[in-house]
Amino acid sequence: MACNQGSIELNLSRADSLLVTELTVCLLLKRGRGGRIDHGHHEGKAKQALHETVEMDRAIGRADLLTSVHDTMTVVTADHSHVFNFGGYTGRGNTIFGLAPMLSDIDQKPFTSIIYGNGPGYKLLNGARENVSTVDYQDNNYQAQAAVPLSMETHGGEDVAVFAKGPLAHLLHGVHEQNYIPHVMAYAACIGQNREHCVSSSGAADLRPVLSSIAALLTVTRILC
Ligand SMILES: [Zn+2]
Repeated sequence: MACNQGSIELNLSRADSLLVTELTVCLLLKRGRGGRIDHGHHEGKAKQALHETVEMDRAIGRADLLTSVHDTMTVVTADHSHVFNFGGYTGRGNTIFGLAPMLSDIDQKPFTSIIYGNGPGYKLLNGARENVSTVDYQDNNYQAQAAVPLSMETHGGEDVAVFAKGPLAHLLHGVHEQNYIPHVMAYAACIGQNREHCVSSSGAADLRPVLSSIAALLTVTRILC
């Protein structure tokens, strides 16, 4: 299957499960969107990062329609977070890209609800924090204010979520070290050690989840790295 030239060619000789999951991966990559969440954050462009997140959500939804929970393990996770946060007691209905409904009690200036811990959005004007009400903080390329100046915003250190469904998805719950995840996926995919569960009662290797799980791993890797 080729998915890098603007067209998708199906190899009909392959097993259906592989075909469907490869198609899923191709669709995700073909869109070319949803894969730049990381870039948006590093540039301090919260709007870009969040729009990419929406695109990624749509791509996952599309992959979900193309696969079956009965034979496909789907894992969606990330390998890190960012020093990205929002606060300021914003009310329901307040745009995420808007201002907090209060002024700083220190410099008496407004602030956006989205804030980065560090990054290129750090800016001083005449030795003081910029008054964001004087700039277009809703612009697509607006770089949200950051507490520490850096040319590129950094990754964060907190736990990230891992969502899973399908065969053996129950192995992903609670809190785990990140290196546990590929072991679960390999186990579900009948790769490596401990493959006893992959042998059917007839003694024949039952590898139905294998290729689907690999596709899921690839999908997550390509989207989030
Ligand atoms: Zn990064």
